[in-house]
Amino acid sequence: MAWDFETEPEFEAKLAWMRTFVRDEIIPLEALADKWRTPEGRKVFANIAAPLKEEVKRQGLWAAHLPPDMGGQGFGQVKLGLMHEILGQTPYGPGIFGNQAPDSGNAELIAVGGTAAQREQWMQPLLDGKYRSCFSMTEPGAGADPTLLTTSAMRDGDEWVINGHKWFSSNASIADFLIVMVKTGDYEMPYKNYSMIIVPTDTPGVNIIRDVPTMGEPDHKTGEPGGHAEIIYDNVRVPFENIVGGEEGIGQGFALAQKRLGPGRIHHAMRWLGQSRRAFDLLCERALTRYAHGSILAEKQMVQDWIAQSYAEMQAARLLTLQAAWKMDQLHAAGKHYSDARVEIGVIKFWGAKVLHDVIDRAIQIHGSLGYTTDLPLEGMYRAARAARIYDGPDEVHKVTVARQVLKGYRPSDPSIEHLPTRRAAALEKFADYLDELAVNE
Ligand SMILES: Cc1cc2nc3c(=O)[nH]c(=O)nc-3n(C[C@H](O)[C@H](O)[C@H](O)COP(=O)(O)OP(=O)(O)OC[C@H]3O[C@@H](n4cnc5c(N)ncnc54)[C@H](O)[C@@H]3O)c2cc1C
Repeated sequence: MAWDFETEPEFEAKLAWMRTFVRDEIIPLEALADKWRTPEGRKVFANIAAPLKEEVKRQGLWAAHLPPDMGGQGFGQVKLGLMHEILGQTPYGPGIFGNQAPDSGNAELIAVGGTAAQREQWMQPLLDGKYRSCFSMTEPGAGADPTLLTTSAMRDGDEWVINGHKWFSSNASIADFLIVMVKTGDYEMPYKNYSMIIVPTDTPGVNIIRDVPTMGEPDHKTGEPGGHAEIIYDNVRVPFENIVGGEEGIGQGFALAQKRLGPGRIHHAMRWLGQSRRAFDLLCERALTRYAHGSILAEKQMVQDWIAQSYAEMQAARLLTLQAAWKMDQLHAAGKHYSDARVEIGVIKFWGAKVLHDVIDRAIQIHGSLGYTTDLPLEGMYRAARAARIYDGPDEVHKVTVARQVLKGYRPSDPSIEHLPTRRAAALEKFADYLDELAVNE
């Protein structure tokens, strides 16, 4: 019987080190975010980050998402989740630990689905922090339903020729290569029609039109890190072997995407908890500090409701996410596919995004006008949090998955299985002998 909520002491010590390191060395970088936006500023940032990355490597925490034989730490999803909760407190955390999205997911994808040559050519430089990458799937005409994607790759001798229009390809404008989801078949089973192809960003015909400004970054300039690019692929030619997984990878695009997205959702959900916690800390601090209408805000029952509600929601999200991570680790150990954890993963995706939004919203509210200003990080966190309900699949799609799977455990029944007259008739029959006794005694 194993039912354990404890972190082993050795790993807890690593987490404790991470908490201090993130608080003292990484979070202070946020306050100068405007300085890091220029090309010169990015160089200075890189100079500051380099020794921090070295320290992370010395601690054995660099690129922890991959198995040891591929240069990672082989932590598994529970430990990674606990790490991401700490790293997610700040947007700079994952980069300094060598596991920022989308690079970490792309490295994982090539690790599990790529050929040996692809691992050497594309994954290793990603792990070494020499390359940046992008995952280019969503199109202006199709996102939540990937069976409608139209970007195609046609085989021409030893090459693939790619044509199509993508957008929201995060980091494309700073990436060395793109992993592009393309249509390579036309079978009745749409899930077999798609493959992933590695495209070096400087290949002729890769036309990055712009980084699309968003609610999260309305003043984003094309070419800055963290942008979401719109791309026209115009007769882009890449070698045949660039298909992820080689010949066997043809038609495996969606299966590979699931391998990539499952762990990614655990990491997202835990990072959101890191953000929620920062907002929650501000909420509590303000409740104890601000005086209005005869008492500090902490003594108002409505504010106590926000605190209790936020605490309960975060704790529920944390346990749900760690349980999903634990299930994935069990499946991995048993050599099974993560799809058996799709209910757990679907739940944390929409529930985690809601908790993130609601906790930040309450933290803004308790700060009044101050919460709405750029003097506090809350307004920026709020704008960024809104996207969590959309990327990696919108809430509704995850709810559909969860509901469909849950409903598999039920059957239609008329009358209802709880219909009392029916149950009473059955009970009269089941206990008839006893009831006869009862009738005699009455
Ligand atoms: C910040 C950010 C970063 C992103 N990064 C990337 C990236 O790196 N690479 C990439 O390829 N994509 C990326 N995306 C795109 C993201 O994955 C898509 O936006 C998402 O999958 C939804 O697709 P869509 O925008 O086309 O919405 P649509 O498919 O048009 O759906 C619109 C809405 O319809 C509703 N809906 C859809 N299906 C159902 C259903 N079955 N039942 C009920 N309602 C439904 C939902 O409310 C949904 O939000 C990013 C998006 C954001 C916001």
